[in-house]
Order: sequence, then structure tokens, then C-alpha cells
Amino acid sequence: MQYTVDKNGYYGQFGGAYVPEMLFPNVEELETQYLAICQSAEFQAEFAALLRDYVGRPTPLYLARRLSERYRTQVYLKREDLNHTGAHKINNTIGQILLAKRLGKRRIIAETGAGQHGVATATVCALMGLPCVVYMGEVDMARQRPNVERMRMLGAEVRPATSGSRTLKDATNEAIRDWINHPDDTHYIIGSVVGPHPYPDMVARFQSVISQEVRQQLAAQTGRELPDYVLACVGGGSNAAGAFYHFLDEPGVQLIGLEAAGQGVDTGHSAATTVLGRPGILHGSKSLLMQTPDGQVVEPYSISAGLDYPGIGPLHAHLFTSGRALFCPITDEEAMQAGLLCSRLEGIIPAIETAHAFAYLEKLNAQPHETVVICCSGRGDKDLQTYINWLDGQPVGH
Ligand SMILES: *Cc1c(COP(=O)(O)O)cnc(C)c1O
Repeated sequence: MQYTVDKNGYYGQFGGAYVPEMLFPNVEELETQYLAICQSAEFQAEFAALLRDYVGRPTPLYLARRLSERYRTQVYLKREDLNHTGAHKINNTIGQILLAKRLGKRRIIAETGAGQHGVATATVCALMGLPCVVYMGEVDMARQRPNVERMRMLGAEVRPATSGSRTLKDATNEAIRDWINHPDDTHYIIGSVVGPHPYPDMVARFQSVISQEVRQQLAAQTGRELPDYVLACVGGGSNAAGAFYHFLDEPGVQLIGLEAAGQGVDTGHSAATTVLGRPGILHGSKSLLMQTPDGQVVEPYSISAGLDYPGIGPLHAHLFTSGRALFCPITDEEAMQAGLLCSRLEGIIPAIETAHAFAYLEKLNAQPHETVVICCSGRGDKDLQTYINWLDGQPVGH
């Protein structure tokens, strides 16, 4: 079975590039050039240098002793939370801005839901001196104010999307409209392994540095390159794609993606796409997505803004349907408990997204000699108020 993308841009039955005709030239330019550019020695050298000196890589692989004791197994944390800007998203935005420069683009656009991808994009635009426009739903701008302010501080223009539900999908529509109007000078930085081919493959490659480092670090620390389990939370699926990438062809490594069940998969307030989704087309690719019987996208819900997405990337849809990876829904409540436990046992406050991966330790019956790697996708500073409200017994939700 092939798990990486095929020459037509598909992962099994999922993927492809379903874009309006007006966008063909943009997507085709990327498709014909991305591999040659990204694989050139000169690109690789600049990418590696920035990941090292600007982002702070390699991130540590840390044996979490107290979590390991509690769950009677060997728990290792891949510390993406220690990256500059506090999450894995910067790995991708660094890669894409280097690509944009080589394509001769002079302007960057992006869309953002919670604002994390917008901040990572605004950061690399400041670094490279390129103008940056970030589209964000008006509703999201109000509930994620600190990230709007961060983007402005970094010199980006944040444009509100005022149509529809005024959330992520409306911001995406605005960004696509902008790209159609500026095909020559603008690169659109997508923030997860979603969108038309070649984005899912491109983003997975930029994030694959995560599992590349894990292999080397595990070998150095344990004498064994391969873990028994890799756990990662899945919104669109970029941190999971990065954490899984170099283990895809190692059947002895059990890959596990944790999705947001929200208030429960049967409550109508959920984002558990592998449970609730059906094949359909979202953001330019064929994948699994949550939809009504007549194909309207269902508004997702999760306490964590980064997992609040109605689909998953086509790679994950393929890993799920082929059985290569296991996907499991985690409720808001389970994630919050796990985030608190990690804080108290390890002195690490994880992002609520990441806490969904930690929550799976309660369900995983790993043996004492086995190794479990958790992708610690981001830090929880941005989520403090949500954690505090929950600790104070106030209902969770946003
Ligand atoms: C954005 C985000 C996620 C979800 O995005 P993926 O593409 O699924 O990785 C997970 N964790 C953190 C900390 C994030 O900021």
C-alpha cells in the first residue's frame, strides 16, 4: 500500500485538485515546481538553517518520567511546543515562504480560524519583508483578539470575512477570491495538510522534520529507531502528518490520530470527522467531511479552536480507510482532564489541541517496555483562560 501522494495527487481515493477554473494556473504553477524547488540542495540548506537558528530545532524528545510511571509505559514527548511562536505551524510557514520567494511572489495571503496559522504566517512575512494579508472570520476575530493583535504587531493586515457564518470557511472563500485576483504576484499559504494538490503533500513534507528527528533521537536515547506508538491530535492533520511521515512504511509502528469529539460524537457539537464524516469535497480536495444528507458542510464544534474543522486532510482519510492508522474521538472533558494532568505531572501546560493526544493515554494499554511518542503540537499559554474557567467549574465552550 502506498501512503504518500501518487503522481496524480491522490492518496488512495482521496486528494486531487478540485478548484475553480480561474485557479488552475496558480495551482498548476505550484504543482509543476514545488518538488524541484523543495528538493534542491540550496533550498534544503536555507530551510535547515532557519529551522535551526530561527525556529529552534531540533526540538527535544523528552522522556516524561512521571507520566510514564502513571501509565506504566515509556512516554516520550516531541516538544513542538518549544518552537518559536509556540507550535508546529512555523515549520510549514517557513517552508512555504522560501518556496514563494523562489516562485518570484511578492505578496502573501493566508486564512486563519483561531489565529495560530495567521500568526505563524505573519511571523515569516516579517522575517522575509513581504506584505501579508490574513483573512479571518469576523466572529473569530472577536473571540481570538490576542492573536489579531499579534498579527498586527507583526505588520500583517487582518481582513475580516463578513459573509456566511463569519468563521473559517468564509475566511477561506475570501482568501481564494483574493488569489484568483492576484495570480501572478501572490502566494497563498495554507496552514494544514488540506487544500488542492500539491498542498497536502507540500505541508506534510515541511512538517516531516518532526518524525525525522524522532527517529534519530529515539535511536540515540534508546538504541531503537522505531517507537511502538505515535500519538498526535488531528484538526486538518499537519502535526499528525509530520509525526507519522517517516513511520508510514513501518507497519510495527501503530499510528494513532486523536480527533475532537467536542461534547460527544452524538451531541451535534463535535468535530470527529472519521466518525461523522462521509466522502466529499472541501477546500479543493476530496476527503472525509462532516456534511448534511444533501452535502452542506456541518459547522464543527470543539473546545480547542485548532481542532474545530469539519474535515481532515486526504492523507488521513486514506490512513483511516486503509486501516494504517487508528483514529479515536476525545471529548472536551477528557482533553481538559489530560491537559491538567500533564501540567501537574510534568510542568508542561499543553495546548488544548495537544491535550487530546495526551487523553488517549487513558485508553492505550501499552506494555512497560513499549515506547509511546506523543507529538506535543503546541503550548497552552493561549488557552489559559479556557483552562481556568474549566477549573473554576464554569461550563466549557467558546
Ligand atoms: C493548529 C493546531 C493544531 C491542529 O492543526 P493540525 O493541522 O491538525 O496539526 C494542533 N495543535 C496546535 C497547537 C495547533 O496550533
